[in-house]
Amino acid sequence: MNLVVQATRIGRSVQTAIALQKWDKQDRSPVTVADLAIQALVSAGLREAFPEIPLMGEESADELRTEAMAPLVAQIVEQVRQVAGDKVSPEFVLEAIDRGREPLDLGGRYWVLDPVDGTKGFLRREQYAIALALMEAGRPVLGILACPNLPGRVQGPVDPDAPLGHVYTAISGEGACEVPLLAGDVAGTARPIRVAAAGSAAATRWVERVESSDRNKDVSSLIAEAAGVSEAPMRLDSQAKYAVVARGEAALYLRHTLDPAYREMVWDHAGGVLVIEEAGGRVTDLAGRPLDFTHGRRLERNRGIVATGADLHERVVEAVGAHLTPEALLV
Ligand code: AMP
Ligand code: MG
Repeated sequence: MNLVVQATRIGRSVQTAIALQKWDKQDRSPVTVADLAIQALVSAGLREAFPEIPLMGEESADELRTEAMAPLVAQIVEQVRQVAGDKVSPEFVLEAIDRGREPLDLGGRYWVLDPVDGTKGFLRREQYAIALALMEAGRPVLGILACPNLPGRVQGPVDPDAPLGHVYTAISGEGACEVPLLAGDVAGTARPIRVAAAGSAAATRWVERVESSDRNKDVSSLIAEAAGVSEAPMRLDSQAKYAVVARGEAALYLRHTLDPAYREMVWDHAGGVLVIEEAGGRVTDLAGRPLDFTHGRRLERNRGIVATGADLHERVVEAVGAHLTPEALLV
């Protein structure tokens, strides 16, 4: 966890820069110095501590190895040096980033890293997460989500003295915890978390993406309402959505896209799934299928996500069946 807490320092230092810059990757998704610097830092730190465990990471250094990109690489090096010291060189950084793309045995042990999950939220200076999971035999067994901008409550009055930023941790079979990030990026005291109880005030609250289309949002609202989750949704970027359900502030995280070709990425879910499950909740895809992490970098055999406090799950999957066509659930 220390490594991920240290990485929040990079997130904060890049995010407080006056002009927050981004580049579009070849797939047109945005990337910042923070995405690349955090992947370099966490990759190198994990390699040092666990040299035999490979890494699946979202980012690649492919587009950084040109003369034109040298200024960006220099900025990445500067960020990583803040935490890891002067030994860090451009070659060290590029190699550490690229370790996340090396082939690995999907049935064995490997780390999954999303260095800045919710880059669009990061650019808006809203929610993002640094998400790490350890996979074993196709399942997450350790999950860590650092949410540097997530207050203790999303709804309700804001306490200006309360810590801004929380880390969520889960170990398979041992439960999930919330750890406040105190000033100076120091981890506070961990407390166990549980999903919302049936009948509690949170049982009618739900969360969804900021970035999905209006049509997607309309369909999500119909599904949530049909399942009895009737309040207006909280909209958050990143796996902070998993955290909000795991800590019992909302009862449902619903995610779907009307794009028939889209499949979820492993690093957008692996850590968050374990945090909810260990807090007593349940995660499947929209059709109620268990998430199958054994197909590479994408969840090829799943469509969307239904993450809930346990007793709501079946009602949501039924409501999905009533509002989406069978084709929308095909894999
Ligand atoms: P969120 O913050 O929940 O919107 O999740 C951000 C992640 O959504 C990004 O890191 C992408 O991997 C992923 N993403 C990109 N396009 C889509 C899409 N059409 N449907 C669902 N997820 C997407
Ligand atoms: Mg992501």
